[in-house]
Amino acid sequence: MATTNALLLLAQAAVYFTVMMSLLRARKVIGIGVFMCALGVMHFLETYLASVFYIQLPFGIVSPGSTILFSGKLLMILLLYIREDAMVARQPIYGLLIGNFLIVALVMVLRNHDTVAVTGGRLPDIAFVDEMGWLMIWGTILLFIDSIAIIVLYERVGSLFGKHLGLRILVCGAVVLTFDQAGFFLALHYVSGAPLHVFWGGWIAKMFATLLYSGFFVIYLRFFSSTSHWFTDRSFRDVFEVLTYRERYERLLEQTNHDHLTGTLHRRHYDQNAPEILATSLAERRALSMLVIDIDHFKQVNDRHGHQVGDEVLKKIAALLMENLRAGDHLYRFGGEEFVLLCERLPASGAISLADRLRGVIQDYSKTSMPTAVTVSIGVASAPQDGSSVEELFAAADSRLYDAKRAGRNRVNGPDPQT
Ligand code: GH3
Ligand code: MG
Ligand code: MG
Repeated sequence: MATTNALLLLAQAAVYFTVMMSLLRARKVIGIGVFMCALGVMHFLETYLASVFYIQLPFGIVSPGSTILFSGKLLMILLLYIREDAMVARQPIYGLLIGNFLIVALVMVLRNHDTVAVTGGRLPDIAFVDEMGWLMIWGTILLFIDSIAIIVLYERVGSLFGKHLGLRILVCGAVVLTFDQAGFFLALHYVSGAPLHVFWGGWIAKMFATLLYSGFFVIYLRFFSSTSHWFTDRSFRDVFEVLTYRERYERLLEQTNHDHLTGTLHRRHYDQNAPEILATSLAERRALSMLVIDIDHFKQVNDRHGHQVGDEVLKKIAALLMENLRAGDHLYRFGGEEFVLLCERLPASGAISLADRLRGVIQDYSKTSMPTAVTVSIGVASAPQDGSSVEELFAAADSRLYDAKRAGRNRVNGPDPQT
């Protein structure tokens, strides 16, 4: 009998995992709501099974009949988080919490009815309903904590497990379900008088279930899905970052203002904002300088080392420039390998020394850490002496850049100090 029960648990887990995993996998086609509803609807059965349905397993273990469903649900919430994000995973977490509280609230109203015996003289078992209500509240709170804990733990232990996703899920499941079993047993003990062996029975069954599910998951990865799809690269801080639509929209806007290759601001951004930045500086009588930075003989880098290396060099130079920005500096990718740096509150003399420092940083870095020595030439112009419009300022800086190129490259050319 005990062996049959163990085999039945195995069958339960297989059916549960197969159906839920299929729903999760098909979410892009049928919608995530199907998965969520299936997940939620089983909670009531679990609570019922947990309070009255016990089964005999091998080695004298007695376990609540809800183990497979409960462990499965926690795992499904974790898998949902891994495949989607915290924003999606919190939907069933909150949904289950609110739904179960709602059930308990409704039962409190329902139990005041005068009922009529119609179906073979059977009457509702109010004492049982009350007892289940308490278990339901406690179980729901525990599930809420469990769900959050398993996600946090999963992110925390990431570096320990490397590519062993199945093992990582097994360990997280085991830890959280141990905690859960302790919590749930306390309630069972006080509400239903469950004896201590129920704790151990339930714990062993939960560990068994976690082992089964992790095994199924490994099989699933092996035959139906590539492991790499299941890795998340969220930083721990992101786990509960919940972005509103407005924040997402703003982030998207911010991303579209940035150049994909180099991460600097777009040319479009320059066209939109540079005139305003200049106008504000002029109105407030603050200095403003513009640096036009162009990589020397960049075509040769591409020709000798290939376009891909060229891109890497370009990225690195942009990164070096960005590392040296202060507040009030705006770096734009102006053309292919040409950048414009707009510096608020920086007069000509400061701009020339900044330009020379940047030139030196790039030269030094490229000597040691780039496939080829790369240098830049920089033309500098400052407002108001070189012009009072962005176009004038750019023309002055660009013509100085041209002179720097003609004079031999790898140099800075700015306004004369006395002017
Ligand atoms: P110099 O400025 O010193 O006069 O010589 P240069 O060879 O750098 O000349 P120029 O600035 O006119 O050349 C621009 C070259 O940059 C042409 C193009 O092949 C390369 N380039 C532009 N954009 C990209 C890019 O996004 N990636 C790569 N790899 N190369 C780019
Ligand atoms: Mg160039
Ligand atoms: Mg150029």
